[in-house]
Amino acid sequence: MKIISQQVLSWYYENKRDLPWRTTNDPYNIWLSEIMLQQTQVDTVIPYYNKWIEKFPTLRQVANSNLDDVLKMWEGLGYYSRGRNFHKSALIIENQHNGIIPLTYDEFKSLPGVGAYTANMVLSIVSKEPRIAMDGNIRRIGFRLLGLKRQTPYNIKRLELWFNKGISKNRPGDFNQALMDLGSSICKAKMVRCDQCPISKICVAFASGSPLDYPCITKKKKTPHYTVATGLIWQEDSFYIQKRAENGHLGGLWEFPGGKIEKNESEIDTVKRKIREECQFEINPEKKIGTIKHVYSHFSISMSLYHCLPIEDIPVKNNGQMRWIKPAEISKYAFPKANHKLFHLLKNQNWNRNV
Ligand code: SF4
Repeated sequence: MKIISQQVLSWYYENKRDLPWRTTNDPYNIWLSEIMLQQTQVDTVIPYYNKWIEKFPTLRQVANSNLDDVLKMWEGLGYYSRGRNFHKSALIIENQHNGIIPLTYDEFKSLPGVGAYTANMVLSIVSKEPRIAMDGNIRRIGFRLLGLKRQTPYNIKRLELWFNKGISKNRPGDFNQALMDLGSSICKAKMVRCDQCPISKICVAFASGSPLDYPCITKKKKTPHYTVATGLIWQEDSFYIQKRAENGHLGGLWEFPGGKIEKNESEIDTVKRKIREECQFEINPEKKIGTIKHVYSHFSISMSLYHCLPIEDIPVKNNGQMRWIKPAEISKYAFPKANHKLFHLLKNQNWNRNV
């Protein structure tokens, strides 16, 4: 295993990707990058990371910002609970740890949004603790090296012990990052370049001649599709937006009111019903703006939007949960990606209500 560690590290120093968070050992930067990288491609993360560090150069600046500002910076990156938890953690560190990130495993892992993987990765880089950070890439390489097929908890535990025994004691962070780079460039889920792999000599899957058979692929469940209808309620030149509940899907982001269409219900009836239930407004949907489709991680939606007018004047209230805004103000608020597709339709129509 020591030899693997040396080979993996030598390969890494020749081939490592030039990434903005690899130029520092600051736990704030490393932790932020690891949170952003969860479920997200490196190329997508880089501009978000750079913009974030420009706006919030220190964790204290995150703690001193409100959640709306934080979510605005996260807008489009998806999995918004990551941004909300990072903000919560920043507040805890500011209030309970004097602004200093606690770097013992138990304390760090107790922060919102920090799981075993993140704690292992951050501590291996920042404190040089020899901890393997088993993400999907590292796990796949391990299964192939040991010739394991079934992704059972027993096999995963076995692999973790094996890696933790052999991880470089001097450069555990580099070892983890090396395996991650190897997994994203050479030992991919559906494509391998074993001829370029620094550890092919000890790889059981390679020796078998069918490396892609390791590990067995578990079939993905079919994701559900929902049809949704929403309303753009106008009063004079402003329209209504509301904030989603903070602890739910896309929590803390802004949206148009509306919801799922029930069986045998028309889009127009859905818009009227949902706006009555959610906002206690009586409105008339006047003109359809269009329908967009969007795929989330666990489901997909078709979402229609209607220009709506209130039947009676609605008292204008602006607070942390609801706002009346003008089209030019949308960039001040964080909206889900699906809403941005609706904004695109609206821009193409010059926001023309024509009702
Ligand atoms: S030899 Fe092939 S299958 Fe084995 S770790 Fe390297 S790239 Fe993956």
